[in-house]
Amino acid sequence: MKLVLIGSPGAGKGTQAKVLSKSLAIAHISTGDLLRNEMNLKTEIGLKITDMMNNGELVPTEIVCELLVKRIKEKDCGNGYILDGFPRNVEQAEMLEDITGSLDRVVYINVADDIIVERMSGRRSCQTCGQMYHVKYNSPMIDGICDNCNTVLIQRPDDSEETVKHRLSVFRTATAPVISYYKDKGLLLEVDGTGAINEISNQMLNLLGAAVEN
Ligand code: AMP
Repeated sequence: MKLVLIGSPGAGKGTQAKVLSKSLAIAHISTGDLLRNEMNLKTEIGLKITDMMNNGELVPTEIVCELLVKRIKEKDCGNGYILDGFPRNVEQAEMLEDITGSLDRVVYINVADDIIVERMSGRRSCQTCGQMYHVKYNSPMIDGICDNCNTVLIQRPDDSEETVKHRLSVFRTATAPVISYYKDKGLLLEVDGTGAINEISNQMLNLLGAAVEN
């Protein structure tokens, strides 16, 4: 099964992709994670993209595609995958067809912008184990310290309020047309991304189950 998750930054794509990947036994591919990994390892690509990533700009498509094509060839993708963060514009959506062939479904997680800004500017992450927290909704046991590995939590540079607002405008301009692109192809399913995490996952699984049966 090949799925795509679309949603503005902070809509919960990463969280839901992890749940779906487990439930459907398919790989989770986050292009944001692939790019952050290059940055953390300070590879040639990583050094090139650091400023773009930190400023909330889209990284050039050829760089993202290079990493994506490599990732899809890995063994755990044999049963299918769920793409989180790709495609980000119509150009990427067109290229994706060449990379993966036809997709089974595209799920759009819809969340209003004011909720996104509150969610993301309160987000804190652990650079050691990747665990995410929220200062209000999912705080660690000890303020500012990761429950799993005791690392000091950080706010990702691209999660600051100003950058989040910029990322939302990038989403509206570049990524929103991808929603209509997939709607026209009859592949789009939509969920409201403001409820509890497990309610949203259940809704997605039900919609996917119904869609695949038909
Ligand atoms: P994410 O973790 O999906 O929110 O992505 C974080 C950042 O990675 C984005 O703000 C972009 O700078 C970059 N990025 C992730 N996926 C893509 C993509 N498909 N095309 C271009 N840039 C991307």
